[in-house]
Amino acid sequence: MTDKKRALARLSRLLYRKGWMEGTGGNLSIRVGKQILITPSGAHKGLIRADDILEINESGVPIGGGTRNPSAETSIHRAIYRVFSEAHAVIHVHTPDAILASLLAKDDLRLPPLEVLKGMGVPHPEEAPPIPIFENDPAVERIAACIENRLRNLSAPLPALLIRHHGTTVWGATLEDALRHIELMEFCFRVLSGLRGTSLFTEGAGEEPV
Ligand SMILES: [Zn+2]
Repeated sequence: MTDKKRALARLSRLLYRKGWMEGTGGNLSIRVGKQILITPSGAHKGLIRADDILEINESGVPIGGGTRNPSAETSIHRAIYRVFSEAHAVIHVHTPDAILASLLAKDDLRLPPLEVLKGMGVPHPEEAPPIPIFENDPAVERIAACIENRLRNLSAPLPALLIRHHGTTVWGATLEDALRHIELMEFCFRVLSGLRGTSLFTEGAGEEPV
């Protein structure tokens, strides 16, 4: 468990250095059996150490006491793990490009057929499914319930979603897969940001901006 906590803390510091977890934002987790290792709530993500990582049980309750609480968005991680039995890592970050992307469409964001989508498990980028967009809500459990509901009814979605005005969440079979997914998603959102205001924009985004 210590190795896994160390890996999670190291990744938190890496994503902070990329500017994706500013101001204590964002959260990361790994599923190990029936337990989840997750970053603490309200902690600076650039300073996280292995000892700061919390272990929670199947019901979402922290194991082993301590003064820190698990991420305020733990319910979203748990919802994703419930829907996708193959998912063992979840990464959630707050970035300006993700927020801009979340404002480009109503319910689903269709991406341009970018080559990097192959790294998201899509052999033909032009056939990539759209990314679901969820409304932000001060009650995180309500966002989690919407996510669980909708993801259960999607066939072969990309391992990614957007929360409007908020950020990106991705998942993967391993922490390395989830890291690749977040890097590629953020790359796609940067491309979309660059296309805004150009004649290529609507062609690329594929949907009318809201
Ligand atoms: Zn968040």
